[in-house]
Amino acid sequence: MTPFSYRCTDCGRTYSRDEVRYLCPECGKSYRPGIPLTGVLEAVFDYDAIGAAFDQARPDWNLFCPVETAFHPPLPVGNTPMARVDRLAAELGLGELWVKNDGLNPSGSLKDRASFLVAAEARRLGIDLIVAASTGNAASALAAVCASAGLKALIFVPEKAPKAKLVQMVLYGATVVPVKGTYDDAFRLSLEYTEKRGGLNRNTAYHPLTIEGKKTAGLEIWAQAGFRVPDAIFVSVGDGVIIGGVHKAFVDLRRAGLIDRLPRLIGVQAESSDAIHRYVETGVYADAANPTTRADSISVTCPSNAHGARRAVQESGGLTLTVTDDEILSAQAALAARTGIFTEPAGATAYAGLVKLQAGAKALPSGARAVILATGNGLKDVEAPLSRISIPPAIEPRLESLPR
Ligand SMILES: *Cc1c(COP(=O)(O)O)cnc(C)c1O
Ligand SMILES: [Zn+2]
Repeated sequence: MTPFSYRCTDCGRTYSRDEVRYLCPECGKSYRPGIPLTGVLEAVFDYDAIGAAFDQARPDWNLFCPVETAFHPPLPVGNTPMARVDRLAAELGLGELWVKNDGLNPSGSLKDRASFLVAAEARRLGIDLIVAASTGNAASALAAVCASAGLKALIFVPEKAPKAKLVQMVLYGATVVPVKGTYDDAFRLSLEYTEKRGGLNRNTAYHPLTIEGKKTAGLEIWAQAGFRVPDAIFVSVGDGVIIGGVHKAFVDLRRAGLIDRLPRLIGVQAESSDAIHRYVETGVYADAANPTTRADSISVTCPSNAHGARRAVQESGGLTLTVTDDEILSAQAALAARTGIFTEPAGATAYAGLVKLQAGAKALPSGARAVILATGNGLKDVEAPLSRISIPPAIEPRLESLPR
């Protein structure tokens, strides 16, 4: 760990580590559930110290970590593999294409990275209960990390979350409260809970260390691409915290003098859950009225980190686009069949965005080096692809029963 303070991403005020917990005390005053968060905090490190100590031969990511290792849960998280997929790259007119397989985290999604760090912070603070609202993956991640750290997890999820995710949470020993309504309703309830009854709130972007946790995916991408900055990184976007976290990784690397440019961040949303896309395109924020997408992990009415996600896209010279559920499920199948990586619909959304981008006027130039972040494991929701495939019927166990 390196010394750090918090800085408000809206007003720029800085605070010492234990002076604040969630939002900027000033800008957070104008926040109320039902609008994107205001006063989201970012960790600002001693970048000279990081730059001086970082060694590519033995990369120590703890230099970029805002919680001491002594408090880290004993469940290894992150360090997921990144596969180079040359065949797909050639087809899409790219120089290099990589798939970062974050579905191989312990609970099967990138959310483990955020839960890990918030659990470490809870241990540092001596708080034994962590509370979260989630579409599913953040909750199963929190439940897994809390199980390993000996902490309690209280989780509010929409009652329609995919079965596998609910099974995970219960099996890991969390207290699971399905909520009648949407993810946004669950979010509101969890805020009320921690305000009135206690515990540490892990809600995405609301707790600043969720962004810092997700940042580690970006740091690893840089290292796994050979300590080179990719030209573009494709990220599926719901609340906009993964894209904000990946951006923060490269911002930190640049502040430390380790890189000299940022990758373009390409945010991909489902057509019915497109609040951030419209915000980036028009500069005017409005909720997604009816997010019905099958990609449950990115189904969000009011994205918590809408402001931060927009900044990440703009500062990096990136863009956003939307894809239909049909494009998402086709992309999921194509990615599985072509690369061996089976990612849940929300994970495949990033690849669907790449396919769509390369077919249009804003295509990345030939020779570009791109990364797809596959954020969650396909086994978390087998119902989604089952709507498009059929399992072949059984045959008699004789060779003649097989077609030739
Ligand atoms: C949470 C999640 C996302 C979206 O991340 P946000 O920070 O909400 O934008 C994408 N894919 C998967 C699998 C997720 O669990
Ligand atoms: Zn502020």
